[in-house]
Amino acid sequence: MNEFVETLLDLPWQADHAPKAAYDVVIIGGGGHGLATAYYLATRHGITNVAVLDASYIGAGNTGRNTTIIRANYGIPESVAFYRHSLHMYADLEAETGCWIMHANRPQLWMAHSVSTARTEQARALMNEACGVPSRFIGPDECAEIVPQLDLTGGGRYPIHGASFHPEAATARHDRVAWAYAQGALRRGVHIWQHTPVVDLLRSGDRVTGVQTAAGPIRAGTVLSAVGGNVTTVAGWAGVRLPIRTHALQAFVTNAYAQEFPGVVSSNDLVFYVSQGPRGQFLMGAEFDRYASYQQATSYTYVQSVARKAITVLPFLAKARILRGWTGICDVSTDFSPILGDTGVDGFLLSTGWGTWGFKAIPAAGEQLALRIATGATPALIAPFGLDRFAKEAAMADPSSAGTR
Ligand SMILES: Cc1cc2nc3c(=O)[nH]c(=O)nc-3n(C[C@H](O)[C@H](O)[C@H](O)COP(=O)(O)OP(=O)(O)OC[C@H]3O[C@@H](n4cnc5c(N)ncnc54)[C@H](O)[C@@H]3O)c2cc1C
Repeated sequence: MNEFVETLLDLPWQADHAPKAAYDVVIIGGGGHGLATAYYLATRHGITNVAVLDASYIGAGNTGRNTTIIRANYGIPESVAFYRHSLHMYADLEAETGCWIMHANRPQLWMAHSVSTARTEQARALMNEACGVPSRFIGPDECAEIVPQLDLTGGGRYPIHGASFHPEAATARHDRVAWAYAQGALRRGVHIWQHTPVVDLLRSGDRVTGVQTAAGPIRAGTVLSAVGGNVTTVAGWAGVRLPIRTHALQAFVTNAYAQEFPGVVSSNDLVFYVSQGPRGQFLMGAEFDRYASYQQATSYTYVQSVARKAITVLPFLAKARILRGWTGICDVSTDFSPILGDTGVDGFLLSTGWGTWGFKAIPAAGEQLALRIATGATPALIAPFGLDRFAKEAAMADPSSAGTR
C-alpha cells in the first residue's frame, strides 16, 4: 500500500442493506459521470433521494482505466466552451470536495511532422485562443525547450515542424475522482449500490418508470444511463436506437523512470500520446481499435506499434520496460461528440458518447446533467449535444476529441 492506493478511504456507505423500492433519481453506472451527477444533484440542488447502481465496483469501467488527460483544446467552439468549463471545475475539485485527486498541471504539446499538419495545428491553436483557451503554435526550438527529450529530427523520418501548445492541460488520479464524488454524494444521503447490475428498464406506456435489477425492481422519477461502453443495450431496453459504435481502447504503462517529463506529448501524424504519471511511469496510448468490439483483450501488435512511434520522437523511451497494459470499452458516437440529456422517452436520460475522451468531461457533464434533472430544462452548455441533433442534421463533428488527431 502507498499513497497511490487509498489507505484511508472514507466512504460512508448507506446503512440500508438493500435498495429502497423507489428513488427520485436512479443512475445506472457508478463511473465518474454517474457519480458526479449524483454529487451535483445532492450538493447543488438538495436532491438526495438518489441511487447510483453499478454492476461492478465504482470506477470499474473506463473511469478507472483511462490515461487521465484533462484538456480543453477541442475542435469546435461548442466543445471548447464545454471542456474549458470542465478544465476549470477540475482545477477547483480538491477545494470543492475536500479530497486529494492528485490534480497537476501538465501542459500539452500536439506535434506536427509535416507542413500540412503544422497548418492544422496552427488552426487548432488559433481557434482555441479565439474561444478563450490559451493555446498557441510553437516552433521546433520552443518544443525542445519545453520537452528537452524530443528528437527534433523524429528519427530522421518524422521531423517536428512545431506543435500546438496548450499550457493549461492537466492530469488527475482517475479513481480518486470517482471516490471524491462518491464520498461527497454518500455524505449527503445518496445511496450507491455496487454489484447491482440493471438488467432491464421498467416502463409504463411510453415512459420509463424505473429499473429492473438482479435483486428486483426499483421505481424512479428519472433514470439516467451512464454506463460507459454498454449504452446500446441499456438504451435498447427503452426502445432508443443510438448512433453509437463500441470500440476497445488500449493503453499501457512503463516502469518508473527518473525523468522530468514536463507534460503530455501527442502526435497528430504518428497518432500516439505519452505522459509521465506521478510515480514516474510513462503512460502511452493511441486510437481505439478500428473494428467494433466488446473485447477487453490487449494486443502485442498495439503495444509494439505505439512504442515504436513514441521512441521515434522520444528515443530515451527505448530503455523503458512495459509493465502492463489494459483495455476499456468505449461508446463512440458517429460525430465524436457526447450525447447528453433527453432521449425522446419520458423519464429516461443519457450520458454517453464519451468515447476515448470523457474523463476530462466528468465535472461539467455531471453538473449540467444534474441541472437538467433538477430543473427539467436543458442548460445552454450541453444543448448542442442532445440526441435530437442527429435528426436535425446538426451533428457536432469534432475531429479533436480523441486527443491524437
Ligand atoms: C485506455 C483509456 C484511456 C483513456 N484516456 C482518457 C484520457 O486521457 N482523458 C479523457 O478525458 N478520457 C480518457 N478516456 C475515456 C474515459 O475514460 C471515459 O470516457 C470515461 O471514463 C467514461 O466515464 P463513464 O462514467 O461514462 O463510464 P465508466 O467509467 O465506464 O462507468 C460506467 C459504469 O457503468 C457500469 N455498468 C455498465 N452496465 C451496467 C448495468 N447494466 N447496470 C449497472 N451498472 C452498469 C459499469 O460497471 C461501470 O462502472 C480513456 C479511456 C480508456 C479506455
